[in-house]
Amino acid sequence: MEITVPSLLRIKPNALFRIGKYLRKEGFFKVALFYGEGIKDLFGNQLTISFASSEISVVFEENVSSNDVDIILKKSFSLPDKIDAIVAIGGGKVIDVSKYIAFILQLPVIAMPTSISNDGFASPGASLVVNGRRKSLKAQIPYGVIIDTEIISKSPKAFTMSGIGDLLSKYTAIYDWKLAYRVVHENVNDFAVLISKNAVESMVNYNIKNIENLEFLRLICGCLVMSGIAMAVSGSSRPASGSEHLISHAYDMVAQKPVLHGIQVGIATYIISEVQNNPEKEVIKSVLRETGFFDYVASNPLIRTDFIKAVNLAPTIKNNYYTILSEKENIDTLLTFIEHDDICKSVLK
Ligand SMILES: [Zn+2]
Repeated sequence: MEITVPSLLRIKPNALFRIGKYLRKEGFFKVALFYGEGIKDLFGNQLTISFASSEISVVFEENVSSNDVDIILKKSFSLPDKIDAIVAIGGGKVIDVSKYIAFILQLPVIAMPTSISNDGFASPGASLVVNGRRKSLKAQIPYGVIIDTEIISKSPKAFTMSGIGDLLSKYTAIYDWKLAYRVVHENVNDFAVLISKNAVESMVNYNIKNIENLEFLRLICGCLVMSGIAMAVSGSSRPASGSEHLISHAYDMVAQKPVLHGIQVGIATYIISEVQNNPEKEVIKSVLRETGFFDYVASNPLIRTDFIKAVNLAPTIKNNYYTILSEKENIDTLLTFIEHDDICKSVLK
């Protein structure tokens, strides 16, 4: 089995200004550049200067607005022939689109997330629209991940909170994976478990839990990269996604106003950890409290009735994906828990 992992990894303040230098060092002189919506206005000038000063030519550039796979396919084959790498800067959408184009054209892709709302920027998959419905497709794991922590620190607080929620879900995801091993004999990749667990523990064990602290942000970015790599190692989303993700996917389907992935996942992680009686449930709760995650969601709560619908729908979302919610009695336990728990009363309204 061949596993690809990012070989260019820069997570530091002002990394954006150095992108030209980083690409040059890797031998990428001709690039196609994809911007997320509104990103060119914010960072276009700095990028142009950085590329020009390292004599990197941008042979194609575009603002990405659609993640429809038909449009992406057409775009892929209309790109100029001689491209050394694809560079994506922005949020999840532009990075997913670029990873897929890179996969089709077999080119390296450099991801430059401007916010860290989930672990998708370093994962081997892409969430795209196929025949009008969102689908997770196999794509290229980025050759490079460049994150400017200065930019992340200025991104809206909700995004970083979302990244923290997504990261904490590794605890409940791993629990579900091991449960699937015991009950339905699903194969568990121990190395993927180790990477995923270490990723979340590095964040948990860092003594400062302040999302404005650049060191803490750097750590979270690295942990999210590791979570993406755990998925690449196991060839599945199992080390990063369990019943808490199923609830979030279901919430996306039933809620009138879904919110950021990791916000939904973080709340579901807290609740699932209680249902699992997860050995790390107190850790999960205290990190969500210390980082201000619960307070943030309490001021922007999820819709309780939609959440309950999502819990009931969750076990039907993915075939052959055994989790704690595969047993009906655990759904009942969960619903009783959210009815009486004080935190749930404030984050689900
Ligand atoms: Zn996730």
